[in-house]
Amino acid sequence: MSTPTEPLRLLLLAEEPLWAALLRDCARPLADSAVLLTAPSWEAVDSLFAHDRQAVVLATPELQPAVGRCALPVILLLDAEPDNAPEGVSDWLVRDQLSSDTLRRSLRHVRERGALVASLQRLAEQDPLTGIANRQGFQALLAARLTQHGGRGLALGHLDLDTFRHVNDALGHQGGDRVILQVVHRLKQLLGADDQLARLGSDEFALLIDTRHDTGRAERIAEAIVEALAEPYWVDGESLLLGCSLGLAHARAQAGADPLMWHAHIAMRQAKGVQGCTYHVFNERINRHARSLADLESELRRALRRDELELHYQPRLDLGAGRIVGLEALVRWRHPQRGLLAPSEFVPLAEQSGLIVPLGYWVICRALRDMQTLQLRGLDPLHMAVNLSFRQFQDSQLLATLSRLIVEHGVDARWLEFELTETAVMRRNEVVRQTMDALGRLGVRFSLDDFGTGFSSFVHLNSLPIALLKIDRSFVAGMEQREENRKLVHAMINLAHNLNLEVVAEGVESEEQMALLREFGCDQVQGFLVSRPLPVDELMEYLLEACGGERAGQAPP
Ligand code: C2E
Ligand code: MG
Ligand code: MG
Repeated sequence: MSTPTEPLRLLLLAEEPLWAALLRDCARPLADSAVLLTAPSWEAVDSLFAHDRQAVVLATPELQPAVGRCALPVILLLDAEPDNAPEGVSDWLVRDQLSSDTLRRSLRHVRERGALVASLQRLAEQDPLTGIANRQGFQALLAARLTQHGGRGLALGHLDLDTFRHVNDALGHQGGDRVILQVVHRLKQLLGADDQLARLGSDEFALLIDTRHDTGRAERIAEAIVEALAEPYWVDGESLLLGCSLGLAHARAQAGADPLMWHAHIAMRQAKGVQGCTYHVFNERINRHARSLADLESELRRALRRDELELHYQPRLDLGAGRIVGLEALVRWRHPQRGLLAPSEFVPLAEQSGLIVPLGYWVICRALRDMQTLQLRGLDPLHMAVNLSFRQFQDSQLLATLSRLIVEHGVDARWLEFELTETAVMRRNEVVRQTMDALGRLGVRFSLDDFGTGFSSFVHLNSLPIALLKIDRSFVAGMEQREENRKLVHAMINLAHNLNLEVVAEGVESEEQMALLREFGCDQVQGFLVSRPLPVDELMEYLLEACGGERAGQAPP
């Protein structure tokens, strides 16, 4: 490749010898910056100079290369001033006006025009905010890299920020932009000179990682990236945390750009199923898994449309009052072929694919509707607990939609309760907390589900608007046999009471467990001993029997 200090090569294509003589005269004063070469045909020029950035073609109309066939700038040599500007050329020169000056001007014009076209091209391939390549630019980069080294020694990373929409909602787009700049800054510091970074969408990035000399490099960089991106971001003196999901795929010889991008995307989706910052490397097993997941995902989508989901309700017994005070809504899928499916068979998939958001709204709507039904049947109001997954907090419409649904169903929000798992609330995410506060102002209560299985910091626990703590059934299960479990459950109950929280023990199956829990001062129990989760009509019978048709007036706390 030539450097800009090299002289410009003027490649002359003309049958008439007169042109050569004329141009030689004109080019003489430019000898330092340009040399004139005569070429027999366009084909000859093309084979020798096609990629020469310092070459300009000067051609008469007979020998002019076909429009679009030539990457070099072309100056057309004409016998007389044309009526219209000739097409497909950078400039033209007319014989009787030809001089050193007109030649020099024309060459300068061609050069400036070339630079302009190049910078327009760059702009079209560049993300204006960060200055890194955009999706279009990335595709060009990737294609070039794949042809360079036979498609080997390269890994593609697909990075997606998990809660970025919240950032835009909370801080406005300018704040969001500043976070993106911080993300790009962190990424750049971890990449080498032979790696490339591109912004594919608002919160999506691609990384090309050079692994020619070090096959484990991509994984090490991925690890460093997830660690670096998990650090807090600072905007206007406030800190915030973001989750990120990174998928990695290693290029295979001759496999092409499309499969590579698809594989990195699948791996990224796999990483999405895990909270916080994580990366996954694509492999065939993930691929098969992804394919069966994709099938299940479209089935689940259909199930939502066809109303194949059901809610079953498990009653919660207050030990002090000796009566049912609440229900937990548990979703089921009545699969046309596979029968009734438990949430463990489809909720994780729904979380991974984002389907949990519409599914979650379906659950809330159905629970609100059934609350109304129970009330119309003359039953006392009961607390209705609905499980919320961390992904539902990523939906920026959560607060607005919930408020609307509560009003639409004419339900007193104080009877509604959301169960969150420790990992969901312990993300210290400001947005989760703000949404919880806002819902709390509507009267909604929160409980901490599966307590003991996560890693709550008690200090933090106290700072969240949580009213109840649900001890996971794995602790309750071993209580009769193991002294250690008894102590643990007792300690959890005391801890909750010290924090002014009510305690619910989950998975109570025996009288013995119930007696111990009563002894430890546990407030409520839920489990097969009281009742299995029931479809709404069975629940109705159960409740009518349990309260013996009597109704004591209850007011929400
Ligand atoms: P969870 O919220 O901890 O729900 C309690 C689970 O324990 C339920 O399982 C319930 O059937 C089961 N269970 C209750 N009592 C007993 C007992 O005495 N012994 C035993 N062995 N098990 C008992 P299920 O219905 O399979 O739900 C599993 C999990 O799926 C739930 O755990 C919850 O995390 C999730 N889930 C259920 N419905 C929804 C939903 O609508 N949305 C979301 N995001 N998650 C849901
Ligand atoms: Mg629950
Ligand atoms: Mg639970």
